[in-house]
Amino acid sequence: MPVRATKRGTERTRFDLDADVLICGASFAGLAVARELRMSGAKVIVVDRYEIGERQTSACGIPTGWLEALGLTGAMQQTFPELVIHSPHGTARFPLPWTFSTFDYRTLCALLAEQGGDFQFETATVVSRTEAGVRTDRGEIRAPIVVDALGWRRVLSDGAPIQPPDAYLSRGLEVHPNGRGDELEIWIDRDIIPAGYGWSFPAGEEVRVGVGSFIPHDHVKAPTVALAEDLHRPAERFQGNWIPHRIREATEDGVFFCGDSAGHCLPLTAEGIRTALYFGIAAGREIADVLGGRQTRTSALARYGAFSAAHRWQFEWLLRVQNWVPRVPPRALAPALSVMASRRFTAWSFNHYLAIASPEFITSR
Ligand SMILES: Cc1cc2nc3c(=O)[nH]c(=O)nc-3n(C[C@H](O)[C@H](O)[C@H](O)COP(=O)(O)OP(=O)(O)OC[C@H]3O[C@@H](n4cnc5c(N)ncnc54)[C@H](O)[C@@H]3O)c2cc1C
Repeated sequence: MPVRATKRGTERTRFDLDADVLICGASFAGLAVARELRMSGAKVIVVDRYEIGERQTSACGIPTGWLEALGLTGAMQQTFPELVIHSPHGTARFPLPWTFSTFDYRTLCALLAEQGGDFQFETATVVSRTEAGVRTDRGEIRAPIVVDALGWRRVLSDGAPIQPPDAYLSRGLEVHPNGRGDELEIWIDRDIIPAGYGWSFPAGEEVRVGVGSFIPHDHVKAPTVALAEDLHRPAERFQGNWIPHRIREATEDGVFFCGDSAGHCLPLTAEGIRTALYFGIAAGREIADVLGGRQTRTSALARYGAFSAAHRWQFEWLLRVQNWVPRVPPRALAPALSVMASRRFTAWSFNHYLAIASPEFITSR
């Protein structure tokens, strides 16, 4: 795969390209689609406004089983057997039935891109759809199969623009100070953020400390800085974004939407990496069957749309819990969490949670 630095200024030459498959977005969802097309022999173009792995889009925490099943453990930084949840009146330690790991974004993207075989990569900003493909700031790319893995903005939709802070979005911001830590920690505390949570994810030589708000109108910068200060970590190297918390249609007007562009980020936890990988793989498999002559593009779109829709109830259920948690009186939170932290309950709840997008899916075909 050709790797080049993001083209800027005069180096950003014009192009006019044709492909069999055009994947817009080279993060988790887009690279997962490319991975499934590696044996297809088709001309696949992947386009992103940045170089692959250049801009980290999350705290990079994922169930370890996903890194193992995808052969991505080379990106792993730290692994945690328990989740520590702080509330104003107590701390509960949740023993996880499976472990959770942090990873290095750049390394993971490089490894995943390698698995995608020799697709062509172009740095360009995707602007809109055209009749035959997409328009970018460097020219047009035409392809009969187009994937939008561009994140929450759902750039290739013809629908009403998704406009924060009024859309169904959460917002998240974190800092990445140097330092070390041993625990995966969450804070549910209205003094930090009225509806949402804070986190501290250690990742080797740095700790990712952040705050997410389920209410998009609530700002997260001051709470993030305050949490970092409480933890005696300097608030430096900021990274943040909007996070969709409502699942959307996974296909529209002939386009496959995967990951945040389809609202495939789980409400409540804002875990969107494994789901971006999961739905990216699902879309990639359907597209591979089109390229292999085993189904039509229309059938692939219908099958992928139905696959995503079959998960809608799980996303909606988590959204209900997301809406409910901020209403729990703070005094009731600590006892509730300590009951839920029993080994039996965590095994039951976390296994159901993992099953929404299980790593077994990777070897299921
Ligand atoms: C602060 C924060 C922390 C988070 N932490 C976690 C976590 O620890 N674990 C977890 O599972 N989830 C986490 N999430 C959620 C997670 O980041 C997303 O759900 C996930 O990144 C979605 O993956 P994606 O591939 O769909 O989109 P993205 O990762 O957002 O990738 C979209 C890609 O499209 C490119 N792009 C966007 N627009 C254009 C354009 N117009 N033209 C060209 N390229 C474009 C971007 O450069 C990017 O490479 C976090 C989110 C935030 C904001």
